Amino acid sequence: DFTVSLPKLGTDEIGELGESIKVLANDLEILKNERNEFLASISHELRTPLTYIKGYADIARRPETNNEDREKYLGIIVEETGKLATLVKELFNLAKMDENTFPIEKEEVHLLPYFEMMIEKVSPALQENRMILHLECPDDLYAQIDPVRFEQVILNLIDNARKYSEPNTSIFIDVALINERIHMTLKDEGKGIPEEDLPRIFERFYRVDKSRARALGGTGLGLSIVKQLVEAHGGMIEVTSSPNIGTTFEIIL
Ligand code: ADP
Repeated sequence: DFTVSLPKLGTDEIGELGESIKVLANDLEILKNERNEFLASISHELRTPLTYIKGYADIARRPETNNEDREKYLGIIVEETGKLATLVKELFNLAKMDENTFPIEKEEVHLLPYFEMMIEKVSPALQENRMILHLECPDDLYAQIDPVRFEQVILNLIDNARKYSEPNTSIFIDVALINERIHMTLKDEGKGIPEEDLPRIFERFYRVDKSRARALGGTGLGLSIVKQLVEAHGGMIEVTSSPNIGTTFEIIL
């Protein structure tokens, strides 16, 4: 047996307490729904490549399948397995970021050579799409960032600019120091994002055009990881876009 002594509450205070409990219960309900939606999205995203893998493995092993077709089906199986691997890796990173066991190891990074190095990495993919990347960055800029994690941010944004643009368009990266803060803008001349979708594009698994985005190899997790990484650096990211004119992401550190 034990007793708990509660302070005597007046009717006003009881009323306030009741209100707080209602707000809490509502928040819990929202969290529960978000969690369910997230789990439903994961199941769906995992099931899509698995369906292809199972389907093509079944046909590939039939004795009547000729070697040429078998080769083609195995190619699809390898590709879909790759997508699954990427998805699992990204989910794992997100889980680590959520529980804050995702260390950000900042160091002073000289930005011009850092951006040049990243651009060199993406240039074969951009050339394939006949796209040009223009970089504007003063030579005397340095930032305290985790070079490995931040590379993931920039490469993700460049890759999106490539995926959602037509050939013969450009990407512009502009790095500048404004009021003691580093501003990085990444602008493309691509298909843009409709205004009603803009507030949601940093959400996990949110995609404007699901089938097209999936065909381009997207997981729908890229931008949520980008945002989380930028915030882990103490920065912020914003997006502006006009359909068929282009999209601009701005990171402020
Ligand atoms: P995905 O893996 O599908 O690319 P992201 O989280 O990186 O997922 O992006 C979410 C969605 O935002 C994309 O599916 C796409 O519809 C839209 N999007 C992202 N970047 C751009 C861009 N530069 N231009 C147009 N749409 C974009």
